[in-house]
Amino acid sequence: MAEQFDVVIVGGGQAALAASYFLRRTGLRYVILDNGTQAGGAWVHGWDSLHLFSPASYSSLPGWPMPDTPDGGYPTRDEVLDYLHRYEARYAPPIRRPVMVECVERANGKLLTVRTSAGDFLGRAVIGATGTWSAPFIPDVAGHEFFGGTQIHSAHYQIPAPFAGRRVLVVGGGNSGAQILAEVSLLANATWVTLQDPVFLPDDVDGRVLFERATARVLGNAGAMPTGGFGDIVMVPPVRAARERGVFHAVRPFVRMTATGVVWPGGQEEAIDAIIWCTGFRPALSAFASLDVIEPDGLIRVNGQQAVREPRLWLLGYGSWCGPASATLLGAGRVARSMVRQLAAWLASPI
Ligand code: FAD
Repeated sequence: MAEQFDVVIVGGGQAALAASYFLRRTGLRYVILDNGTQAGGAWVHGWDSLHLFSPASYSSLPGWPMPDTPDGGYPTRDEVLDYLHRYEARYAPPIRRPVMVECVERANGKLLTVRTSAGDFLGRAVIGATGTWSAPFIPDVAGHEFFGGTQIHSAHYQIPAPFAGRRVLVVGGGNSGAQILAEVSLLANATWVTLQDPVFLPDDVDGRVLFERATARVLGNAGAMPTGGFGDIVMVPPVRAARERGVFHAVRPFVRMTATGVVWPGGQEEAIDAIIWCTGFRPALSAFASLDVIEPDGLIRVNGQQAVREPRLWLLGYGSWCGPASATLLGAGRVARSMVRQLAAWLASPI
């Protein structure tokens, strides 16, 4: 017999924790289903030296601020993981792990059925909070199937040591590409491949400004803010050190891959041992495909956080298309607050 809840949250990372913080105050009955084995969502898989692009005070979930790092700098992956573990211990959200959600289906006119590795759950509403980590994006480059070297996505990159002494391409001009190039270039013969010249933020501009910019956009006064976006590179200490070493020269993408390397736009071939794809992620929405809500662009059309084609489905944390800065620690909390208010009102009188 399927257990029934007012709200079933799919995914148990930071977005789910933020939603849980506000749901707890509504009196609604809810459960969080996460296929991970521990707290932390995508942060469990981050590379060892990963640094946030904003200080702790701009990286907190609702209710309990992330403690300042000992040096007052940018928190590391391990500091974020520690914070998320302690946040869960503090608020004891109703999380079940590991539970894999296979699909979500319409049960009848009023409920959704969430089919999982632990049986079926029924929800009057479902919040999708599955993040992006399980859907890494790699561009479809001609000949990629012939390449005999190593290829990994930043989603699975951990440390630079395996690349020591090798000829490596780091592909992607965002923060991941810059941070990974910064350390791989210490050990390997590394080349940075980007679509355009990467954009570096000034040394004194970090994630704080990006959040203020996102807020200004929502309030309609973005004109007063400096331009730029979340993809711009923040000069965290290892990136700054790499700039001093002069490693941030970027070239435009190769046109083809071969068994032993790549072919550059001018036709010149080069032997390459490994490619690290820092080319981003897509929202991990496959569990909701059975609701026939996924558009040709791979996203779900939303009004705020509520899916237009299935009003029982709400989406949190995937990026700006479902709430400003919602894919960040601070942004997830801000969006969760207004989403839960609207969700509770909708459940009180669903249309
Ligand atoms: P996730 O953390 O991915 O959590 C989703 C959870 O759902 C996971 O546990 C996953 O296993 C689970 N799940 C997925 N599918 C299913 C399923 N079918 N069934 C059950 N469970 C499922 N943010 C900041 O605020 N500041 C930063 O400085 C910052 N730097 C970043 C640097 C990098 C390199 C990256 C990749 C991200 C960074 N972010 C940063 C972004 C952001 O905080 C993360 O992407 C964040 O983890 C998203 O949280 P989430 O809860 O939406 O998803």
